[in-house]
Amino acid sequence: MRILIRGAAVIPRPDRGVIPHADVVIEGRRYAAVVEGGGAGGEFDRVIDGEGHLLFPGLVNAHTHLAMTLFRGLADDLPLMRWLTEKIWPAERNLTGEDVYWFSLLGLIEMIRSGTTAFADMYFFMEEVAQAVDEAGLRALLSYGIIAPTPDRIEPELARAEAFVREWDGKAEGRIRAALSPHAPYTCGPEVWRNATALARELKVPIHTHLAETKEEVDRMRAETGRSPAEWLEGLGVFGVPVIAAHCVHMTEKDIEILAAHRASAVHCPTSNLKLACGIAPVAEMLRGGVNVALGTDGAGSAGDLNMVEETRLAAILAKQKAEDPEALPAAEALACATWRGAAALGLGKELGTIEPGRRADGVMVTLNKPHLCPGHNPLADLVYSAQGADVDMVFVDGRLLLVEGELVTLDEAAVMARCRELARRFR
Ligand SMILES: [Zn+2]
Repeated sequence: MRILIRGAAVIPRPDRGVIPHADVVIEGRRYAAVVEGGGAGGEFDRVIDGEGHLLFPGLVNAHTHLAMTLFRGLADDLPLMRWLTEKIWPAERNLTGEDVYWFSLLGLIEMIRSGTTAFADMYFFMEEVAQAVDEAGLRALLSYGIIAPTPDRIEPELARAEAFVREWDGKAEGRIRAALSPHAPYTCGPEVWRNATALARELKVPIHTHLAETKEEVDRMRAETGRSPAEWLEGLGVFGVPVIAAHCVHMTEKDIEILAAHRASAVHCPTSNLKLACGIAPVAEMLRGGVNVALGTDGAGSAGDLNMVEETRLAAILAKQKAEDPEALPAAEALACATWRGAAALGLGKELGTIEPGRRADGVMVTLNKPHLCPGHNPLADLVYSAQGADVDMVFVDGRLLLVEGELVTLDEAAVMARCRELARRFR
């Protein structure tokens, strides 16, 4: 299959700015050419008119819990620990695989519609999530969340997580990769972390976890161990494998050095952190310190939605306030966090994240013919500061079209929403 996207404005990678007019050629699953000024020749199976559109690398949501779309609007306006212990954990005890499958499809539709092409997810019933990802056509790094409140739970939790990795890593034509996910330093003891790290090394998969999300959890770890959560994990040898650390809100200089030294990625989740009043992650400091910073939505239960266009804008704006410097995290850097830095966090930095020949053809187009994107002085700045998720009208992954002129190709939106409304009744 050869596809030509003709005459779009193109952001091949955020640090190169915008090519005002280019032809982009996709061959099979990869980009084959970016022809500045247009005029790509040859035979094509499909030609897509890109005039009046902006084409950019697919957005990467590096931390979410897809099926928590089920809990959207169920419990809001609470602090994290009360939200988890009083609302979410009790509701999760009634979850079935069927719930997770359908609400994953719902989340996938939401992500496609707002320009996400790859994501990292940890949750339960991950076989159902993987099935939904396979059908939807997105790319994902998936893992069972491991929580072992008592020692007898350690073995079965790790066994289930390992079985999932062995069954699903590399499936769906390679679009699905697997990870291991001890939930957080405050929910998993040293034995879980040591065993999970050894297992990650053996299976050659990353660890995806939560780190330093709230001040309370960091204070408690310091009181109990004399160390910050990042120092504590380092002491257990966890950073000997690739680590994706969601949140990283309360980080010391030393914590930033630890992440940078071990090439770990931090995932900034601005909406979730703001809504739960957890604080603002030191994004500019982490980037300056050499940490790879990606962006994520976290689950729709805490964040309200799965819209990476919105997260990118918030990340850029919040970093300026946090650093008290309007030059902190310029638009191109924020977009880099949402694209190739996200791909790097998922361990796919050489495969994804830019529109360049040889890279996997994951991409997104927004229509520029909107009042809030007019007059178009700088389409990259417009994308970060002015665009909305709903401006996305084309999405492809591995050269396969998933959204064309605003129409979903792989999923039946009305059927998914109808089933989700039915299933949600049990949780009211
Ligand atoms: Zn999370």
